Amino acid sequence: MVSEDCLFCRIVRGEIPADIVAEDDRWLAFRDIQPQAPVHVLVIPREHVESVGSLSTDDGGLAGELMLAAAEVARIEGVAESGFRVVTNVGERAGQSVFHLHVHVLGGRRMRWPPG
Ligand code: 5GP
Ligand code: ZN
Repeated sequence: MVSEDCLFCRIVRGEIPADIVAEDDRWLAFRDIQPQAPVHVLVIPREHVESVGSLSTDDGGLAGELMLAAAEVARIEGVAESGFRVVTNVGERAGQSVFHLHVHVLGGRRMRWPPG
């Protein structure tokens, strides 16, 4: 499914500029426009999927690739050793504001737990 109006689909199509950190044929990693940590990168599938909650059993490979991409981003950004957080929000109540699956990779500062 491709969404004409989806912000992240537009980034995938190159219609909206993004500061790309890494990419592959199935995913794209770019800096968050409103960083919440010194390192804050979003990893998204090129294919439109609304959230982790919308993944089907056929999407196991893609889900794994996004996790591996998150780890690769952490290495590229120099936070693999110091520690980083990988988080994805599902639904408005959990803080999701863009309804195209994305994994936040946050690092470069101490993280608190639990998140608010
Ligand atoms: P969510 O709140 O859905 O978990 O995360 C969406 C993220 O997308 C937010 O952290 C927000 O700052 C980021 N974001 C929203 N619009 C844009 C944009 O146009 N470009 C980039 N790079 N990030 C965006
Ligand atoms: Zn989309």
